[in-house]
Amino acid sequence: MTHCPHCKHEFEYNHLLPLGWRFKIGVRCQKCHETSYHAASSKKKIMLSVFIYPLLLVIFQAMGLALGWSALIGLCLLAGTLFLIPFLVRLSPEEEPLW
Ligand SMILES: [Zn+2]
Repeated sequence: MTHCPHCKHEFEYNHLLPLGWRFKIGVRCQKCHETSYHAASSKKKIMLSVFIYPLLLVIFQAMGLALGWSALIGLCLLAGTLFLIPFLVRLSPEEEPLW
C-alpha cells in the first residue's frame, strides 16, 4: 500500500479506493493531516489500463465470443482494476498535471 509523501504514514485501503474513479481529489493523511494527490505517472498507468478494455472487447468479438460475454468479461476486468487501484496508486505532495 502506498505511503503519505509528507510523513510516510501508510494509507489504508478504503482511503485510497476513491482515487480509482476520481483523479481530481486528494487524500488527507490521518497522521499529519496533509493532502496528497494522485501522481501523474500513476494516473497515466491507470488510464491506460482503462482504455485497454474497449480494445479487449474488439479482440473478443474478433475471436467469435458473443457480445454479452465480451461485455461481461470486460466489466469484470474493469471492476477488478478499480479495486486494485489502492495497491497501484502513487501519491504526490502536490497536484500534478496529467500531461
Ligand atoms: Zn502524512
